[in-house]
Amino acid sequence: MVLADLGARLHGALNQLSRASVVDDRVIDALLKELCAALLEADVNVKLVSQLRTKVKAKVKKSLDEAEKAGGREANKKNVVQKAVFDELVALVDPGTEPYKPVKGKTNVLMAVGIQGAGKTTTCTKLAVHYARRGMKTGLVCADTFRAGAFDQLKQNATKAKIPFYGSYTETDPVAIASLGVEKFRKERFDVIIVDTSGRHKQESELFEEMVAISSAVSPDMTIMVLDASIGQAAEGQSRAFKDSADFGAIIVTKLDGHAKGGGAISAVAATKTPIIFLGTGEHLHDLEKFNPQPFVSKLLG
Ligand code: GDP
Repeated sequence: MVLADLGARLHGALNQLSRASVVDDRVIDALLKELCAALLEADVNVKLVSQLRTKVKAKVKKSLDEAEKAGGREANKKNVVQKAVFDELVALVDPGTEPYKPVKGKTNVLMAVGIQGAGKTTTCTKLAVHYARRGMKTGLVCADTFRAGAFDQLKQNATKAKIPFYGSYTETDPVAIASLGVEKFRKERFDVIIVDTSGRHKQESELFEEMVAISSAVSPDMTIMVLDASIGQAAEGQSRAFKDSADFGAIIVTKLDGHAKGGGAISAVAATKTPIIFLGTGEHLHDLEKFNPQPFVSKLLG
């Protein structure tokens, strides 16, 4: 079930609520059952779904008890239930922490981490385009010396997007490249420097050691985990492993334009208490959407 299907199903469940002539426990239970089934099918972690059910129920009960005392009508009950559902869906994708926001006029170093194939290089270029369009002098550094052709790919992307880049065909130490690249752009007073790092096929200790070494060398203002939405439930474990070793402060979820269910990435937010900042919605340079919890849930519910 892709993300759009999840939205349609949640929307359908809430519609049933609107059509009900009386909002009683049976109607609320049916709504919650459908909501939870939809979230589980979309790969949201079972514990999170169960917590959502308990929280919505508790919120609804509290509000209805209060409304009862004040002589509330059916329409208000519906609003109460809808609001509780909306708020708890927002809470699923909102860890309550503000991500770092690059500011013009100072050097902001961003570092991207993630598994090979997650979309790091593509996302780094998209991010660079995003900041450059906002008038920030932005540069890309290719510190991926593991994957053959990584520098060529970044170079190609950067050239197409007219973004200055730094990398090396001969230097094999990613820490040296990252340091030199960041230093060069810092001297040239760049506002945003984005460091693309190596991935591996899976989380391995060498990869984490390398990320820690690069991070110590360039002291990023924000480390971003690039997470492929199409890996489903594995997203949670993968993000936990990265969080434990290469602590990151933001997540970008890629490939949401495909067949990804999205729920795994949503669970990763809760598991790591880290905000999503952008969504990758395609292979092109402009396929990057800013992420904000409330508008995201509103759009999802249609
Ligand atoms: P890296 O190994 O993590 O640097 O991954 P790449 O940036 O090379 O991306 C791997 C593949 O995923 C490439 O074919 C990209 O075009 C593709 N890709 C990256 N982001 C997205 C996205 O948001 N949507 C889609 N459909 N494809 C993407």
